[in-house]
Amino acid sequence: MAEYDYDLFVIGAGSGGVRAARLAAMTGARVAVAEEYRIGGTCVIRGCVPKKFMVYAAEFAHDFEIAKGFGWSIPGEPTFDWQKFLNHKDAEIARLSGIYAANLAKAGADIFQAKARFLDPHTIELVGKEKTVTAAKILIATGGRPKLPEIPGIEHAISSNEAFHLHDLPKRILVVGGGYIAVEFAGIFHGLGVDTTLVYRGHNILRGFDEDVRAHLADELGKRGLKVVLSCQHERIDKGPNGFVSHMAEGLPIETDQVMFATGREPYVEGLGLEAAGVALNAGGAIAVDDFSRTNVEHIWAVGDVTDRVNLTPVAIREGHAFAETEFYGRPTKFDHADIATAVFSQPPVGVVGLTEGQARHAFKKVDIYRTAFRPMKVTFAGLPERTLMKLVVDGETDRILGCHIVGTDGPEMIQLAAIAVKAGLTKAQWDSTCALHPTAAEELVTLREKYTPQELAAAE
Ligand code: NDP
Repeated sequence: MAEYDYDLFVIGAGSGGVRAARLAAMTGARVAVAEEYRIGGTCVIRGCVPKKFMVYAAEFAHDFEIAKGFGWSIPGEPTFDWQKFLNHKDAEIARLSGIYAANLAKAGADIFQAKARFLDPHTIELVGKEKTVTAAKILIATGGRPKLPEIPGIEHAISSNEAFHLHDLPKRILVVGGGYIAVEFAGIFHGLGVDTTLVYRGHNILRGFDEDVRAHLADELGKRGLKVVLSCQHERIDKGPNGFVSHMAEGLPIETDQVMFATGREPYVEGLGLEAAGVALNAGGAIAVDDFSRTNVEHIWAVGDVTDRVNLTPVAIREGHAFAETEFYGRPTKFDHADIATAVFSQPPVGVVGLTEGQARHAFKKVDIYRTAFRPMKVTFAGLPERTLMKLVVDGETDRILGCHIVGTDGPEMIQLAAIAVKAGLTKAQWDSTCALHPTAAEELVTLREKYTPQELAAAE
């Protein structure tokens, strides 16, 4: 390998790239990483981490309501200082980015602050640095970026990238989309006191999630006062004297101070020079890879969102880890993409793992549904109408738990542990043999005894 400058060159210092680079460098391999923006990637810089800070900040609005029910009185109206929050958030993100960079350096990897572009299958140009390097193996981990539709006036809209750095909080915002980012940011802005409207083109938010989850969440968002406009296609944005006017295919125009599009993300392959390396894309524009994350070029791999498999941080990390295990530790490892737990940090949040009821009914002969919707004791005491949904999808023939779905406070925390049972293929009987922990909301999950038929479920709504 000495004929090359590096044993491994990683393009992109996000979750997947950093994990792979660090593990490879720890074996003594000569490793370099190129990053054109900031070390840490989408998750740390403008994704999961700052988003979660914003969710925490927004949740206080609801917590103040609950606190009042417990006898607390808050003199005057609580106020929120966006600038103070931003400064604190940016400092924390800088700290975390620094840790990522330090860990890479500690492992012995070189870091190039530049965009990397293939000149040929083994040669990479560091754009703007007047430098080229060669590498025996190359890993592409460039992630994804927001995708906005090409409608008139789209230049007036922001994406999640900008939402993390707004100079001021708008008074009114329109959030477009019905997926993770739209639902999460609508909740954030609403919680922070912004007059928020979520506009989605479909019949209900979170397409692809269990129908009960979708219905329950929509209901809960309504209870919290978030405006959700469904079956509405955004067609045009005009800049008016008092703000931006969003024109819809259906209904009246909506005027707001900010319009945010959260209409999906696309693999970030632009300017990488993939043609020069001969790396092929799939029909969706993502880098095509096999189970070991190897591209069609023998010595080039890709992990994370740029491959558009399951676009989640821990998945990119595991894919990067599996690559390093296989190529630098001599342990061929494939990451198993089945039964990955996921959460939507809406307010209330959603946590799910495994099959939805619809998917299970499609794939299995007999499906049992266990389901409860109850008022958690904390909000009941405070006199709020919130309800938590828990649902188990079970294979009626083998008793194996196929899916678990939660909408409610701490749903993401609970689902992480429920995912162990689902991933391990435990049966409902084994699940039920676990004694409840009282008083918790989670105990409801192990005390679900009654089976529901679809008819009963419909009637219960
Ligand atoms: P999603 O793919 O989840 O959702 C995109 C939404 O935009 C859908 O509701 C889609 O509608 C709608 N949409 C797409 N095109 C248009 C259009 N032209 N006009 C109007 N609406 C449109 O993407 P996100 O951007 O929300 O998130 C991207 C990915 O990032 C997620 O899939 C997830 O993998 C990851 N992510 C994960 C998070 C987490 O784990 N908590 C948080 C944030 C992101 P339709 O349903 O009709 O197609």
